[in-house]
Amino acid sequence: MNRRNRRDRTKSPQSVFAVLLFLVAAIGFAQQPTNVPSVAPAGIPRDLARFRAQQLKDVRYQLSYTITPKADFISGHEELRFVQNPDDRGILPEWLDFREGQISSLTVNDQPASTEIQNGHVELPAKLLKLDENVVVIDFKAPVAPAGKAITRFEDKDDGSEYIYTLFVPMDADMAFPCFDQPDLKAKFKLSVTGPADWNVISNTSPQSRETAGAKAPDLLKTSYGPAKARALIRTSVGENLSQTQTLSGEQSRMGKTIFAETQPIPTYLFAFAAGPFQKIHDTPGLPGLYVRKSKLQKAEAEAEAVQQITADGIKYLSDYFAQPFPFPKYDMVMIPGFAYGGMEHAGATFLREESILFRTAPTHSDRLNRDILLLHELTHQWFGDLVTMRWFDDLWLKEGFAQYMAYHALNALKPNENVWKRFYQAIKPAAYAIDSTQGTTPIYQDIPNLKDAKSAYGAIVYSKAPGVIKQLAFVTGEDHFRDGLRLYLKEHAYSNAEWNDLVKALEGVSKKPLGTWADAWIKRRGMPQVDVAWSCGVKGELTSTRIALSQKDVLDEGGLWPIATKVLVNYGKTATETRVEWNTAKTEFITGKGGECPRYVFANYQDEAYGRFLLDPVSRKVVMAELGSMNDVFERTLLWGSLWDSVRVAEMDPREYIELALKNLPTEQDESLAQSIIGRTITALHRYVSPETRTQLAPKMETLAADQMLQSPSQDMRITWFRALRGVAETEKARGQLKDMLSGKLTVPGVELRPLDRWNIVEALVAQNDPDAPAILAAEEKRDPSGDGRKYAYMAAAARPDAATKKQYFDEYLHDSTRPEDWIELSLGSFNWWNQSDLTLPYLGPALDALPQVKRERKIFFMLAWLNAFIGGQQSAAAQKQVHDFLNSATLDKDLRLKILEVVDELDRTVKIRETYK
Ligand SMILES: [Zn+2]
Repeated sequence: MNRRNRRDRTKSPQSVFAVLLFLVAAIGFAQQPTNVPSVAPAGIPRDLARFRAQQLKDVRYQLSYTITPKADFISGHEELRFVQNPDDRGILPEWLDFREGQISSLTVNDQPASTEIQNGHVELPAKLLKLDENVVVIDFKAPVAPAGKAITRFEDKDDGSEYIYTLFVPMDADMAFPCFDQPDLKAKFKLSVTGPADWNVISNTSPQSRETAGAKAPDLLKTSYGPAKARALIRTSVGENLSQTQTLSGEQSRMGKTIFAETQPIPTYLFAFAAGPFQKIHDTPGLPGLYVRKSKLQKAEAEAEAVQQITADGIKYLSDYFAQPFPFPKYDMVMIPGFAYGGMEHAGATFLREESILFRTAPTHSDRLNRDILLLHELTHQWFGDLVTMRWFDDLWLKEGFAQYMAYHALNALKPNENVWKRFYQAIKPAAYAIDSTQGTTPIYQDIPNLKDAKSAYGAIVYSKAPGVIKQLAFVTGEDHFRDGLRLYLKEHAYSNAEWNDLVKALEGVSKKPLGTWADAWIKRRGMPQVDVAWSCGVKGELTSTRIALSQKDVLDEGGLWPIATKVLVNYGKTATETRVEWNTAKTEFITGKGGECPRYVFANYQDEAYGRFLLDPVSRKVVMAELGSMNDVFERTLLWGSLWDSVRVAEMDPREYIELALKNLPTEQDESLAQSIIGRTITALHRYVSPETRTQLAPKMETLAADQMLQSPSQDMRITWFRALRGVAETEKARGQLKDMLSGKLTVPGVELRPLDRWNIVEALVAQNDPDAPAILAAEEKRDPSGDGRKYAYMAAAARPDAATKKQYFDEYLHDSTRPEDWIELSLGSFNWWNQSDLTLPYLGPALDALPQVKRERKIFFMLAWLNAFIGGQQSAAAQKQVHDFLNSATLDKDLRLKILEVVDELDRTVKIRETYK
């Protein structure tokens, strides 16, 4: 899966971290017999999962769902088959996982059993089980809701249609059907879904058959057949249990039943279906299937081919690279509005966030490439995650790290002129370094004793550090060995499960390089090194030593040393050298190829092969700042800008200096993604790091630059980029006036038609800046755009109103209104916590922290971080900082929550320190 592509926002970066105990390696655990808990455990403890993995095999689910439109539940009939392995202790009882639903009947091998749900589990008593195949038959109901459940209902406000979809990762399959909900009990699924006849159902395999009752259900029920006969008709036609037809009540129209082919062995979290009046678009032989809701059909048609083509190219590339054909019988992609993540890689049926595919704002070239990355990320998972699945969520990085890394790897091969590794650096490394320098960071391998805590494992460590470290690994082993190791790993564990040490073994096998020490430092230990360079020249312009020194220190001061392999760039003006240096000690030295000649500057992570904080020494920094604008190598330029920003964040460089450097160089910066990152950081520095007086001096200069470039830049991508910058920075009356002129059509970005979300983002900024016309503008925009999306964006924009009543109303809804879709809330969190409204939002900092257990329980994976980043990130003061640390010191918190707070408060700590240092 993938974090969502967030809308363009110029909020501060986040970060985080803290103490994580080093993990007990789970290796060797499997050999010891484990016991089934005698009472129903909370969540799914790893011990229970280990026990079941030893006990059970050949698991198969036959599931039949009946969907009743608008109902708050879905009815299900399940036949679960499994074999219990022989055990010295005789036949043992089993716990089946099932939360928040109801069971109306349950039989085990034809014997009735208790339907009682205890703490999210149902007992299968030992006396009813046998050693060969067991058959458990269950009739149940599972909850369906707009938010907070495994089965989500989306109501399309544009045409009144309804859509139902599942999202189980990491631990919610047991909210949709009774199951053994753990990744290492792979099972074959056979699904059938009965629902309105005009609905399409998409699942992991293709439909085997589709049947529709011959007449409208109400007619059947009332007239020619009568209810009993109507049921009989459908039962005959589909050959299944009576319970399938029980919801065919009078108000429904025609019902259809879709029966899918059985899947290959897949884990519960990768089983999925989506149902509703989805339309298949641009249905073309050789291209994967693509579905969209019917109200977006026209818009989707314009984007379909690009989406399908990069996916088809990706399938070909990855099949060759992995030496494994596409692992499942078909591949579809389904766009889901308001989907909680950018995408989710269900085997054979990836679900994508509609907003990440059909751009809501005028897109730039980088936006299109980021969409390619999302598509290739989900596609890579079909091998990494779906074909070979991690044994437990402690190895989440195995699938996420590789999907992220391989997405860039594939794009680099498919679009070689896009400077993809520069983009990798920009998209991946800052987030990784931000988290890895906080007290909330964790090792890549994260101990997860209970599946209920697995959500917390998602974040920058698996999505950013893991791919960053994997890039370093490929540099260490060499590209060919790296590829051959992956091939071996996938071949050995196909349709099964594996752990990270299996991968290390495969890579050691092909590269003949011992990697144990490397893996211990990078995978099992938290944190990262800061690498410093030392050199000096004499009066005659020669190096005083012929060697350049490199040293590493643990950013968190925990005494860690890492094996590092890097390319050091030594620049001499007209010439430069690159030297590969590998070391694992505190210090090392190397000789440059140019003997004793005095360098102009040295940068120790050329081409971003290594992982760590690489700051410039004072001499190099001065030269780089003077010459940045004239450096031709855009990758190098990007890395150096990144290093300067790192210096700002460690309070070694005045943020004012950074802003002034940006104002000087941005007018000639023509690389879109680099300009975007410099602009974003400049606005962060303005809003968070400098004093209000400095901001008042410098923000108008940034406004003017943005407005000029928006109108005059020769590149459309740059004009869009500068339009976004203007919206992000505008605070003076003049700049707000320009934004208002854009809404009214008096001012346009040449060649660019603003899309609805562009307009809403302007409205939001005007509301947040308390522009006197904002209330009227908001009301007018609501009238202009009454679409379903429009209502959501109006909700977002109104959250930025700078008044206490608005904040109170929104905060109450966040915690108590279960009908508000989660993506509406998530979208509004940043508006609520606008950077200039800290006084208004500070009263909610405490309640937001108090609500964390509820947030963890009820919300999808990334919501927690969005919540913390919004409420803590909206603050800049020492008083707010103290409040968060007092909370950490006094509250009784789950360890994962404590780490998340430590991760996020780091940015506030830095803000306070930077402001204090450069008053
Ligand atoms: Zn993923």
